[in-house]
Amino acid sequence: CKKLESNQHHMVFSDSLQARLHKETRVENGLQRALANNEFELQYQPIISLDTHQIHGVEALIRWRLPDGNLLMPGEFIDEANRVGLIGALGEWVLETACQQLRRWLDEGFVISMSVNISPRHLRQAGFEEMVQQMVKTYRLPAGSLMLELTEEVFVDSGLTSLYVLNEIRKVGVGIAIDDFGTGYSSMRYLKTLPIDRIKIDRCFVSGSGSEDLSDPMITQAIVFLAEGLGFDLVAEGVETEQQSLALASQGCHKGQGYLFAKAQPSDVVTRLLRDQPLMAREP
Ligand code: C2E
Ligand code: MG
Ligand code: MG
Ligand code: MG
Repeated sequence: CKKLESNQHHMVFSDSLQARLHKETRVENGLQRALANNEFELQYQPIISLDTHQIHGVEALIRWRLPDGNLLMPGEFIDEANRVGLIGALGEWVLETACQQLRRWLDEGFVISMSVNISPRHLRQAGFEEMVQQMVKTYRLPAGSLMLELTEEVFVDSGLTSLYVLNEIRKVGVGIAIDDFGTGYSSMRYLKTLPIDRIKIDRCFVSGSGSEDLSDPMITQAIVFLAEGLGFDLVAEGVETEQQSLALASQGCHKGQGYLFAKAQPSDVVTRLLRDQPLMAREP
């Protein structure tokens, strides 16, 4: 699991204010230019059945293709986008691009769902729920085919706003997943009060699945019981070995994503993966 990042505060305070402002303006200009120039792209990581290896769905993951050809990962710019107030514009681009792609796959007869990561700040912006509802309408997305992934952080502040927004979104058949489950400001209470459809077991608990050290297996087993009891769909993140996959499946977690099966890839590569699947996954 991630170490607590207390060092970051040190860095911020030891930078001069001017240097910080300068850096933020540069990042903001860069992000704005990137949006205007279409420098962002989505890659899609399959979410598969641990038992049959069928593709259930995909998760959209953003990348920034710099003019010099370098590819930046979300860890290198999402926080900045949040900080400089561009997460709304960026998040809307992500949703629209993902929904468009989902429509293409549905039109080809693939029965899959699309998961999209949503920043907590974006979720709390005015009009967020209308925007999502509009996407569902525009792209004629069937109930259950779009899922939003949120981290536990969403429920810390303004729990009531989030609750309202989530309920509105679910009315049009959009699902809600808790991402990185177990690593946030977890509280069991929100599992009881919030409209949740899926839990994603964080990679840090998955990495020790099937290992001798029993702490990770105990935690994943507890999450399986919790999800079963509360009726949530369950997905394990970051499955890298056959051993992890088998251990999770035997504990009752039947969906996963990870480098063992596929990393995030451009849409045309995923289309080929979908076409190569046994016909079962296609609509008649
Ligand atoms: P996440 O939503 O938990 O996504 C899973 C991350 O784990 C992805 O990293 C994925 O490439 C990586 N991963 C998948 N399988 C494995 C594995 O087997 N081993 C390892 N070591 N890693 C694996 P990525 O793409 O760098 O994304 C990092 C985070 O950035 C995401 O975590 C998500 O929180 C955020 N993010 C990504 N795309 C978006 C977006 O469009 N909007 C927002 N707001 N956040 C995004
Ligand atoms: Mg995610
Ligand atoms: Mg995650
Ligand atoms: Mg994670």
